[in-house]
Amino acid sequence: MQTQLWKVDPNNIDQEIIAQAAELIKRGEVVAFPTETVYGLGADGLNPDAVRAIFTAKGRPADNPLILHICRIADLSRIAAEIPDQARQLMERFWPGPLTVVLPRTELVPDVVTAGLDTVAIRMPSHPVAQALIAASGVPLAAPSANLSGKPSPTRAEHVWEDLQGRIAGLIDAGPVEIGLESTVLDLSGEVPYLLRPGGISREQLEAVLGEVRIAGEVEDQETPKAPGMKYRHYAPRAPLYVVSAETSAEIAALLQSLVNEAQRGGERVGLIVSEETRAFLTVEAAETRVIGSRENLAEVAHNLFGILRDLDQTAVTVIYAEGFPPTGVGAAVMNRLYKAAGGRLITP
Ligand code: AMP
Ligand code: MG
Repeated sequence: MQTQLWKVDPNNIDQEIIAQAAELIKRGEVVAFPTETVYGLGADGLNPDAVRAIFTAKGRPADNPLILHICRIADLSRIAAEIPDQARQLMERFWPGPLTVVLPRTELVPDVVTAGLDTVAIRMPSHPVAQALIAASGVPLAAPSANLSGKPSPTRAEHVWEDLQGRIAGLIDAGPVEIGLESTVLDLSGEVPYLLRPGGISREQLEAVLGEVRIAGEVEDQETPKAPGMKYRHYAPRAPLYVVSAETSAEIAALLQSLVNEAQRGGERVGLIVSEETRAFLTVEAAETRVIGSRENLAEVAHNLFGILRDLDQTAVTVIYAEGFPPTGVGAAVMNRLYKAAGGRLITP
């Protein structure tokens, strides 16, 4: 399949391009588009064949449900059977934006979208190109991240092209995304709100609106809703990755220093992912060093993480040490993705 590539200025959207992309969506094709979180792989969310094409293009397991993306609150009642007050409050506060809510679904939502569950995940993205595409398509867009299954989510159109060129009908390039991590997923279909995936909206922000928010697995509870798809091994780089955490940059640098020395004595090619502050303390040279941002700006760290992981995978490193960050605010989402990439491997002083 020939993949059509369009470049769009998000501040001055060419509506002709949006119309062409929407035409493909209406025909049941799959089109990649920018959102504020990561690039998404969109298809008509009410057309089961179109949705199946997303799974095929990504190589995604069929029991991992998709998020439906809407551009107006008015479209909610077509796909959500119940909209609790808590959901309304959150939508008012955080939509459009990086928050996905899981609600009971209507009959209109195909089984293939929800992997047969009686709930559906819904989000309203804030990216102007995403909004324009959803509006022009006239349907909710089912859209997971636009990467091959097993790769990090794409934060630039180049990542999508690398993974999916020739496998999808189109790609709208509007430059790098703003947030760089996937949306927060909150299950509001039960008695208590459950945070299924940390993301751009933090637990603290949710709790400011809702009171207590539970984290799946945090409380021993038979009724803990399952987070389908979370069982899949998320992206992991080819080289084993270790998260290296300590209180301060000086301590992290000291720990990294001895790890790098030891690994290099053993013949390893070391990759480092460090903050600016920690970099300043380092006196050893690793084979590849990537500065991910400042410890004082975790949004910047989030923004750079997936691109750096992709980039290091293109090098010959045999082991990667990645600095850990405080798990507050968006730091919780950063640490969630880092731990997944590390398969849980953590080194502390
Ligand atoms: P992705 O769009 O690839 O970032 O993945 C979306 C994630 O949302 C899935 O991996 C699921 O864990 C979650 N999700 C989607 N639909 C549901 C649902 N109905 N119930 C619970 N979680 C869901
Ligand atoms: Mg994904």
